[in-house]
Amino acid sequence: MKKKVVLLGSTGSIGTSTIKVAEDLPESIELIGLAAGSNINLLAEQTQKHRPSTIAIYNPELVPQLQALLPLGPRIVSGDEGLIELATLPEADIVLIAIVGTAGLQPALAAIRAGKDIAVASKEILVMAGEIVMSEARKYGVRVLAVDSEHSAIFQCLDGKPSSSVRCLRLTASGGPFRQTPHSEFANISLESALKHPSWVMGQKITIDSATLFNKGLEMIEARWLFDIEMPRVQVIVHPQSIIHSMVEFVDGSIVAQLSTPDMCLPIQYALTYPHRMASDRVQTDFAKIGTLTFEEPDTERFPALLLARDAGNRGGTLPAVLNAANEIAVAAFCNRQITFLQITQTVGEVMSDHQLVEQPTLDQILLADRWARTAARKYIASQTPRH
Ligand code: NAD
Ligand code: MG
Repeated sequence: MKKKVVLLGSTGSIGTSTIKVAEDLPESIELIGLAAGSNINLLAEQTQKHRPSTIAIYNPELVPQLQALLPLGPRIVSGDEGLIELATLPEADIVLIAIVGTAGLQPALAAIRAGKDIAVASKEILVMAGEIVMSEARKYGVRVLAVDSEHSAIFQCLDGKPSSSVRCLRLTASGGPFRQTPHSEFANISLESALKHPSWVMGQKITIDSATLFNKGLEMIEARWLFDIEMPRVQVIVHPQSIIHSMVEFVDGSIVAQLSTPDMCLPIQYALTYPHRMASDRVQTDFAKIGTLTFEEPDTERFPALLLARDAGNRGGTLPAVLNAANEIAVAAFCNRQITFLQITQTVGEVMSDHQLVEQPTLDQILLADRWARTAARKYIASQTPRH
């Protein structure tokens, strides 16, 4: 059966990989809705090729230009309402959310409430509101499928086993570009060197998160909610080759891992074709060429982001949303050269320590904490940076 797929974030790194997967499997996947932030040319090109019934461009001012590129249709929507409309298209089977940051949260909830399965690349939404997203999914009887490679790996290793059969999850981390950089050099890390990831080509925000290891911190909290495993049972191990995408250690001591050469098309395809495995030649793994797989303990002195994320995950409530929002602001400030690499983690730590945690928050309380953290992070950054 053909899956009818809505893709939010079609022009980004995950989005363009998803388009490749759809082109690999035209018998199994039909793209019926595409949404992008501002790249109208690529969105128009994707639309001409895949003929979705509806497309969304976030900025409403770009609608006329997009219409001019696509004189024969399709329907074009915009803004937050446009994303919600796409996420709830009556004919959609599954909505893949690959928008960077938190803008995907409301569309994810709308899709669930409209009875759609969701495939989540945007880990930020599970970090912010994992408990609400998962409980809504249970209530509406829909699946939340992981696109993040580590979580896809864990999902494949678990193979339906309950969390009571798990001793721990072992998330693998490449260690990022500064795995071997001495702490004394961290103060001088440049934006250019932070944007060079050793194993993956990704969007800017997640690439910086991979350099600070906030990405792995966010993924620990993401795993906690996706698989209903408390934080102490979510472990991180550095594995620089990025061949083992993660492992599950069961209560009897047996460990199951999922391996392949790194390519996001694989977890995307699995999420979109689940529960089936479809043939594809795209990903090939040559063990003799890889030679060695190595492992190291993560260094939390150089990468305190892992400790902050563990703390946020352990204490729960609104704290993970605060960590996530402060990190988004700090990463943007680093990318604008307003703060140093070390100040990203410092900003998040300061904002977290000033936060009055709300336990068992409602969605509104989470969104309020998110806004509070953004303001607090901007204030902290302004207090740190000299005025010119
Ligand atoms: P990216 O920056 O390359 O792409 C983001 C996409 O979202 C673009 O298409 C952009 O136009 C669109 N977008 C942004 N704001 C929007 C809005 N308000 N409305 C509609 N579209 C909007 O980012 P990416 O690397 O593809 O990452 C997307 C998400 O997937 C992130 O949450 C990231 O953490 C996660 N993820 C990415 C990778 C990867 O390999 N890139 C791996 C795992 C998880
Ligand atoms: Mg990942």
